[in-house]
Amino acid sequence: MTSVVAKFGGSSLANSQQFKKVKAIIDGDPDKKYIVPSAPGRSHPEDQKVTDLLLLLFELINHQISYQEVLGVVKNRYREIVNHIGIDFDLDQEFDLISQALENKASREYISSRGEYLNARILASYLGYDFVDASQVIRFTEEGIFDEKASYEALAQMAQDHERAVIPGFYGMAPDGKIHTFSRGGSDLTGALVAKGVQARVYENWTDVSGMLAADPRIVDQPRTIRYITYGELRELSYSGASIFHDEAIFPVLDAGIPIKIKNTNAPEDPGTYIVSTIQEELDDYHITGIAGRKDFSVIEVQKVHMDKDLSFHRKIFSVFESNHIFIEHIPSSIDSLSLIVSDHELGGKKDQVFKELDTLCKPDSLSFRPGISLITVVGRNMINHVGISATIFSSLAQADVNILMIIQGASEMNVIIGVDTQDFEKAIQAIYAAFDSQADFK
Ligand code: ASP
Repeated sequence: MTSVVAKFGGSSLANSQQFKKVKAIIDGDPDKKYIVPSAPGRSHPEDQKVTDLLLLLFELINHQISYQEVLGVVKNRYREIVNHIGIDFDLDQEFDLISQALENKASREYISSRGEYLNARILASYLGYDFVDASQVIRFTEEGIFDEKASYEALAQMAQDHERAVIPGFYGMAPDGKIHTFSRGGSDLTGALVAKGVQARVYENWTDVSGMLAADPRIVDQPRTIRYITYGELRELSYSGASIFHDEAIFPVLDAGIPIKIKNTNAPEDPGTYIVSTIQEELDDYHITGIAGRKDFSVIEVQKVHMDKDLSFHRKIFSVFESNHIFIEHIPSSIDSLSLIVSDHELGGKKDQVFKELDTLCKPDSLSFRPGISLITVVGRNMINHVGISATIFSSLAQADVNILMIIQGASEMNVIIGVDTQDFEKAIQAIYAAFDSQADFK
C-alpha cells in the first residue's frame, strides 16, 4: 500500500501558475499515483469559478439567451492554462463538443461536470499520467444514486490497469450513460472514494489553507492550526460551522481507516492537518482541539407541570416537529420543561403552525419563544480525561461578561455546546480561545 491519492481543489488549479505548483508537488513524490482535480476555481476574489460559469451557461441556454460570451470566458480560462504550461491540447475540439451538447439540450449535470473533465484531461497531459474518465469509475444507478459496489470494483480494476492516473472529481455516470454529479464541492468525495477504491496509504486534500484552524480567523486573530484531529472531532467541528471539507467525504476513508491530510498548495512545506481515527498518546497532549459556532437559532420552551409523569408527552412534541419537517438540534430539559433548539432556517415561516399544534396536542402550561441564539461548540477528544476543562470555559465566559443561556454536553464527552445571545457570539469564542491559549493548551 504505497499509493497516495491527491485531490487538488479549484483554487489550487485556477490558472497556469497554480498548475505549475501542482506539478512540482506531484513530481516531488512518486507515491502520488492517483490525482483528482476540481474545476478551475477563483484566482482572486473577483474571479469566477468555472463550475459557476458552466451552470450559468445552462441557465442561459434554457432561457434561450445567447451563451457565446460566457462560453468564451470559460474557454479563455483553459486557454491561459494550456498556453502557459506548454502542452499540445486541442481546446477548440473540446469546446465544439460542449457547444454541440448545449445545442442538443444536454443536462445540467453534464454541463457542470465539464469543468472537472477538462481540467483532468489537461492535468493528465501535463503530468504524463493516464486520463481515466470518472464516468468509468464513479458509478451511479439509473435513479441517480451513487453505486458503491460498482464504483469500488471499477476503481480496483483501474488500480490494476493504470499505475498513474488523473481522475476528474465531482461526477460519475449511470448505466444509461447519464452523467450525475455530487453536491457542490463534491470532488472531495471523489478523492475519498478513489482513496478507498485503490486502498491508498493516505488521502491528501490540497487546498489554499495550511490545514484546519482551531477557530475562525475572522473572529480569533491568527488561531493555531490543528495538527491532528479525529474523524469524530472533525464531524463535530464541521457541523458547528468550521467547514474545510465536504461532509460526506469523511465516510469512505473512515471506513477504510485511511488518514486524510489537508495541505496547502501555496505553502507545501507547512505541515497541514492530519485527520485520523485515533491519535497516538505522545501526540495527544492538548485538551481542546478547536472551537466553532453557528448563529441563527431559536429556542421553543414547553412548560408543563408533571410532564415527566406522561409517557407520551415527548412523543407528542416530536410528532409536531416531524410532521412539519423540522429538525431539532438539541433538547435540554428539566423536570417540568423542555427546550427545543431549532435553526431559524429549519423553522422558516412555520412557527405559528408549530405553536398551534403544540398547544392542541400537548396542552402545555406555557409555551415561549426566544430567537437570536448562537451555539458555540468546544471540541476535544481529551476532555473526558481531564478535570477543569468546563471550569476554564465557564470562567472565561464569566470574565468576559457573557451570559450562558444553556449548556449541552455531548454524550461522547467530546464536546461542550454553549448557547449564548447572538450579540455575544464573537466575544464568547474569543474568550474561550484566549483562556486555553494562555494555558499553552493548544499545542
Ligand atoms: N467544481 C465543483 C464545485 O465548484 C466541485 C468541486 O470543486 O469540488 O462545486
